[in-house]
Amino acid sequence: MPEYHFRFFTVKGRLQSMHETTNEEAYAESLYAPDEALEQVKKSIRQLGLQDISVAAGYGRLLTLLVRASRSQHVLEIGAFGGYSGICLARGLDEDGRLISLELKQELANLALANMTHAGFGKRVEYRVGEAIAQLERLSGEARRFDFTFIDADKGNYPVYLEWAIRLSNPGALIVADNTFLRGRTLDPNRNGSSVLQVRHFNEQIATDPRLESTMLPAYDGLAVARVK
Ligand code: MG
Repeated sequence: MPEYHFRFFTVKGRLQSMHETTNEEAYAESLYAPDEALEQVKKSIRQLGLQDISVAAGYGRLLTLLVRASRSQHVLEIGAFGGYSGICLARGLDEDGRLISLELKQELANLALANMTHAGFGKRVEYRVGEAIAQLERLSGEARRFDFTFIDADKGNYPVYLEWAIRLSNPGALIVADNTFLRGRTLDPNRNGSSVLQVRHFNEQIATDPRLESTMLPAYDGLAVARVK
């Protein structure tokens, strides 16, 4: 068994509370070599005693591909956490591209910046700390517009974040959102907490909003991918 495969399964127990890894996902992950910068992010998260809720590796690679394929220059991230997705987004940028990342907690913004710096992207990212909605209003006030927005923050505000993302988008911009299945809760008719209801609403909006064309990827914990017309 290749080393990465082995290590993937050793961390599975830790990941199980978030997402039951499928054989297809494990097979896909086993094809890729370990990624030092991303491994460092995961290590730093563990060292702080935090649950690792970074985006799945396969979706991280997709973020890089989508940023690069769309030639996005101005990228917005809502929810930095440890910087895993920030690195993936930044890897898709050309040298003029920049990332603005919104993070509620200063401790996590510091962690993400340290990890982005370790990965060589420290000068390409600006962290803005505090409630995301206030930061989005501020970005709007600065007349900022984005080519790509990645939503991966508190799930109860997903519909609000989608509205802001559309409002702050250049025509043709991409909007991607993680955790659209909420570890299965989105699909479970017996689960009707406010985050679940908001994510269901968000998913329906992604699928039906006439301003968007979109798809929903059902691997890992679900990923919404939309393009603003
Ligand atoms: Mg997530």
